[in-house]
Amino acid sequence: MNEANEIIVDIHTHHPRSGVLSPTMAGIHPWDAERGIAPPDFANCDIVGETGLDYACDVDRATQERLFREQLGAAERLQKPVVLHVVKAFEPAVNIIANYKIEGVVFHGFIGSVQQALEALRRGYYLSFGERSLRSSKTRQAIVATPLERLFCETDDNPALDIAEVYTEVAAIKGVTLAELKKEIYKNYKTLFRL
Ligand SMILES: [Zn+2]
Repeated sequence: MNEANEIIVDIHTHHPRSGVLSPTMAGIHPWDAERGIAPPDFANCDIVGETGLDYACDVDRATQERLFREQLGAAERLQKPVVLHVVKAFEPAVNIIANYKIEGVVFHGFIGSVQQALEALRRGYYLSFGERSLRSSKTRQAIVATPLERLFCETDDNPALDIAEVYTEVAAIKGVTLAELKKEIYKNYKTLFRL
């Protein structure tokens, strides 16, 4: 087995594990947009986020949007990728992102239709899938439609979930082996972070 086959990437986790490659994040979640949190140390993270818009929560939308724009501005200035939390706000989110020159955009925990997935892919974004994505039948169709070179897997906030379980399910949907999926996702990681 070569080295690349052994590397497993979890693109978005709140519980980093040894032996799993995950970027460090700095960002203000849309859920926290009204808390008056000081700007995080964007310069010393791998990826800005999670940031975005969540129209399913009751946080003021204008405040969410202001913070989202500030963080996209920081990512543009520092030439860092962003990890997005977008819920029931796909169109407004992509319209805002289009105003910034971002090096890499990852939709984390993507849940959506094939049509939305294709729209995000057309714009050059990556889609990351986790356990909630896998429980959504329309999103499973979106996984089918997502090419391997634009796909990530994640465990997000579930400390009990092993990233290998997500890979196993996504590999089955994509019709590839676990080793192939690991290799492709590690390649995506290197492209995203220009390694
Ligand atoms: Zn998260």
